[in-house]
Order: sequence, then C-alpha cells, then structure tokens
Amino acid sequence: MNNFLLKSYLKCRRKAWLDFKADKQYKSWSAQNAIQNYVEFKTFEKYTGSKLFSGIKGCEEGYVGVLGMKMKHILKNDLEILVNPSILIKVKGKSIWGRYKYIPAISKLGNRTTKEHLFDLALSSIALEKFQNSKVEHGLVFKRYKNQIKVEKIFLKDKLKDKAVNIFSELNNSLIQNIPEITENRKKCSICYWQKYCDNEAKLKGYLTDIDGIGLNTSKFLKKLGIQNINQLATFNKNELEQKLLKYHDKNITKYSKFIDQSIAYKSGSAISLPNRDKYLKIFFEANPGFLIFDIESNPDENHDFLYGLLSISNIWQNSKDDIYEPILNLKNEKKIISNPKILTKLISKKNWPILHYGDTEKIAIIKLAREANFFESEIEILKSRFIDLHLIVRKSWILPLKNYSLKTVANWVGYNWEQNNVSGSKALFWWLQYQDNQTNIFLEKIIKYNKDDCLATLHIARWLLNNLKYNFKEK
Ligand code: SF4
Repeated sequence: MNNFLLKSYLKCRRKAWLDFKADKQYKSWSAQNAIQNYVEFKTFEKYTGSKLFSGIKGCEEGYVGVLGMKMKHILKNDLEILVNPSILIKVKGKSIWGRYKYIPAISKLGNRTTKEHLFDLALSSIALEKFQNSKVEHGLVFKRYKNQIKVEKIFLKDKLKDKAVNIFSELNNSLIQNIPEITENRKKCSICYWQKYCDNEAKLKGYLTDIDGIGLNTSKFLKKLGIQNINQLATFNKNELEQKLLKYHDKNITKYSKFIDQSIAYKSGSAISLPNRDKYLKIFFEANPGFLIFDIESNPDENHDFLYGLLSISNIWQNSKDDIYEPILNLKNEKKIISNPKILTKLISKKNWPILHYGDTEKIAIIKLAREANFFESEIEILKSRFIDLHLIVRKSWILPLKNYSLKTVANWVGYNWEQNNVSGSKALFWWLQYQDNQTNIFLEKIIKYNKDDCLATLHIARWLLNNLKYNFKEK
C-alpha cells in the first residue's frame, strides 16, 4: 500500500479500493489526471531549474529535486507503507548524504491546499526522516501560475502526522472489506478514471443521482420520502408526492415533478416535449441576415480564453458554401491585447447577427471583455441582447432521456459525432498546456478542430430543435 492510495481514498473510498483491487482494463484515460501529471512535472522542472534526478542516486549526488524515490516504512501496529513522494527538494541541513537533506513537496492544480496535500506531505516526511536520518520540519506545496511558481510552506507538526497515520490505517481496513458503494456525491465522478465502470453499475442499480438535477442532498431527501431508485421515482404519483412534500414544508412541487418526468424520459429512452416551446425559437423565424455560432476554449486556472471559435452561418436551416468557421487565437493573454480585441471587432462587424452559444460561459466572457475595452453601457446592452443560449432553450423546451444536458451529451443524442475520438474541454486544455510548453502546432490544430466541432454541434442542436417543431410530439 502506498501514499497514492491515500490520495484516492480522500477523494472517494471506492476509488482507493478500485485502484488497489480492480482490473486496470476498466480504468479509462482521464484528461484531468493527464493534466495533473503534466503540470506537476513542468512545475518541478521549473522550480529546480531542471536539476532533477530519479531515485536514491539523486539523493546521494545531491540533486536539487529527486523524483521516483520509494521508501518502505512501518507505521503503527506493523502497518507497512511504501512512500513515494511526488518530489524531494534539497535544503540546508545534515543527513546521511552529507551537509544537506531533503524535504517533500507536492504540486497542486487549483488554488486550495487540501487534506490530500497535507496528509501526503505528512506521510512522506515520516518515512523520509527515518530514511535520511534527519528531521523534516516542513514540506512545500507548489502552484504554477502564468509560468511562475508560487510556493507555500507547510509545517509538519506531530498532530498532522498522527492524523495522516490514522487515516492511512482506516484506508487499510477499508481495503480488506467489500467494494464500497458508489459515492453519493457524483460530482466527483466526472473527473475520475473509474467513471465508466461506476456509471454502468449506477445505471444498473437505478441510482437517483443519475437523474439530471438530483445531487447528494436531493437524493437523500427523496430517500426520506421513500423513493430509493429511478424506477420508484418514475412511477411515483405526483399528488402523493405533493402531500409528502407538504409534511416537510417543501412547496416546490414543480421541481420534484420535473424529476419524475426526467426519470420517466430516462427510463423509457423517449424525449418529452414541453408546452410553449415554439416561443423560444421565434428568433429563428425573424429576418436575420445570418447567425454566428460561438464557442470558447479556455484555461480557467489562469483566466485565459485562448481560442474564440466563430462559425458564420447564412442559413440556419441548411448548409451553404458561404458558411465560414474562423478560429481567433488569443495566445498571449496580455492586457494590451484587450485594448483592441479581435473577437469584439468580429462580433461587432456583424451587428445584426444573433450569436448562438451553448451555456453561459461565452456571453459572460464577451461582456467582461467589452467592459475591459471600455465599451459604453448602451453598446454592451446591444451586444448582450444578441446572445442566444441554446442550452437554456433545450432545457425549457424538452425533457431529454439523458443523464445531463451538456453539449456533448445532447449533441451526441441528436446524432452529432466529433471528428476526433474521446474529446472534451479538459482534453483541449491538455493540448493547450502542451502547446504552451513546446509551441508544436499540431496541438493548436487539434484544439481548433475540436472547437470547430463544438460550433457545428451547437448548430446541429439548433437544427434538431427547429426540425422537431414540425412534428406532432405529444405535449405534456
Ligand atoms: S467514479 Fe465516482 S464512485 Fe467511482 S470511484 Fe470514481 S469517484 Fe468513486
């Protein structure tokens, strides 16, 4: 058992169990994981000035950073751990190797330093103290931001070390039990490499959290009402539900009634159309010279929108040879570019064209950019009024037989396939990080191809909505 399992355990008990015992063929490639590993290595390279070496030889020769060091250690009650610190950093001191010693360090992606980081440093320090015969008073947490490394010093007190040992022993006990249940907080699953594996089981068992909008708390509340799974939810009588809700002083029957409809759609595989859906699509029947379809790729960690993709469509109903996709790159993210951002010029040059997008990111980003470029409030209002969020329209018009209403899920369901396999926003970010480091155009090309597909997928959804106005779908 090693310290990596503890990191998994702190995220989800089941994850640690699967890491330790499950057949690795069920594990999927995770963009999030790849980003973590990539950023971690680049951070270590930058901090140490590439003075890195691997294993014990690195320590003996006094390298600034040592990777891949493995140390066996017996914690309390004969509990053995194989500690593999993310990196060891050379500092002043005295150890078995001479007039220097090492301390453990770790890199983080978000802004928060979590228990995972603290316990990992604590366990590493326990093994390292014994191994190098020298005290470790603190560890380091690195965070890469705009090509700089921020360093946080973490004091490794006995209390923290004791906590880390206790939780490791809890992990040890959990691994000899049966496989833990799927976490109730399914948000965690979206970035986990066991997601497909767990999704299959959740579907089979009819987990309530598979229904769009049902999170941890709602699922707990529904269980209190006697609804344990999707089957029970789909067949639940709405009047009875209303009575039960009143007992709990909850009058939001509309919300729960929608969950029932969502579970009916999910179970049956058929979409349910909502009344008055035509009104949301009125804009498409007005005389517009054309439409812009807009999608952004960004690095949220650095507040950097690095690609604005614009697809100009002259006829929303069918393809035309005049349709143009244009990728507008913002490679540097420098303030001076903001004084004359090309994307704003482009959007304004087609001032009568509505801007279709999926989700609120695009509108928020452009309004922010317009404010930074000192647009008048009246100009900003005009710009705002041009944005049409298809994600909102889909939600107001249909209950789809899907787990969520993300662009990928909905577009796949309406029959759109991305040209590149297994792509996602996270994968585009992974390509972007690699491009930033080595300026290899192939990564930019992949990102642009992906972004163009996102625009085309948005168009595909718009056309599906329009085409389905013509049919006589059963109204609710
Ligand atoms: S997919 Fe979810 S439940 Fe399964 S191991 Fe990962 S986090 Fe846990």
